[in-house]
This record gives sequence, structure tokens and C-alpha cells, in this order.
Amino acid sequence: MFVALPDRVDFWRAVSGGASFRGELALGELPRLRTLLMEPHGVVRFGFDFGRDPDGRGVARATLEAVLRLQCQRCLEVMDYPVSATLTMAAVASLDEVDRLPEGYDPLLLDDRHVRPRDLIEDELLLALPLIPRHASPDCLDAGLLGDAQIEGEALGGPFAALADWRQPHSH
Ligand SMILES: [Zn+2]
Repeated sequence: MFVALPDRVDFWRAVSGGASFRGELALGELPRLRTLLMEPHGVVRFGFDFGRDPDGRGVARATLEAVLRLQCQRCLEVMDYPVSATLTMAAVASLDEVDRLPEGYDPLLLDDRHVRPRDLIEDELLLALPLIPRHASPDCLDAGLLGDAQIEGEALGGPFAALADWRQPHSH
């Protein structure tokens, strides 16, 4: 199912109208994220619900779900990294307002009343990326022979040293 997501949403109009958007977006269409993925396949499922919180503040509640295909930095094979995020974003006009936001709110800087939902989705997925992607189990190295060779070659300078040299021709 694909629902077209508007490029720009008038935040205050969406809040007054209680607008909602649901749908899927191809991860390959997010240029900043795409370069960090090992395989740019899959989609992010999103939901945006605009409205007012009990204090009358204009907010957008967002839910995101995706499985990102990253490269494990231990075995260099692909790994599936599930992301599931729920956030409440409130429009702010100044740093003072950011400080006054309740716990758990994310500040949303408006671009002349407008938000770009696609950018919000991409920003959130980028934030969710692990610093160093690795499979949960260290056993993943068993599946990657080059990974083993690299570690032994670097640590011991032993029978794999030639291979290590081949892998890093400019290291001398
Ligand atoms: Zn791995």
C-alpha cells in the first residue's frame, strides 16, 4: 500500500484539522539514509497525527517502523536492523520554548508554518542508526572468512600477514 506523502504540510492547518497521514516510503528515496545502507531495499512505514495536547500545544505524533539493511562491522555481511520509533513533536519558535517543552517532546522548528514529513522521517531514521553496526552475536565472524583472516593477520603477523598486506596496500 502506498499513500502519497505531501512534500510540505502546513503545520497549523494540519493541527486545526486533526490531519493524519499513513503510508510507506521506499528507503531508497531517502538520499542521506540511502548512502549508509548496505542494501537500499525495504520501506519505512509511517504515521503522522496532528492535533493539540491537553495543554493546547500544537503537536505532531509520529510512528515509524523500518528494517534497515546495514553492514556488520565485524563480519562485513549484511544485517537487518529493525527501527521502531514513536515521538511527539511540538512546534517551537525559540530556544526558550525548547526548554519549556515537557519531558519526552521533541522540538520542531517550522519552516514558515510548514514541515517536511519526508525530512522528519529521514532525520529520525538517521538518529536511530547504531554508531557501529554489529550482529548481536559475536559468532557472526564464523561466517566471514575474510573477517577472521584480517584479525589474525593484524594481530600476529603470521600466515595471514600477506593477506593483510593485500587488503591494505597503502599501509606501509
Ligand atoms: Zn556480523
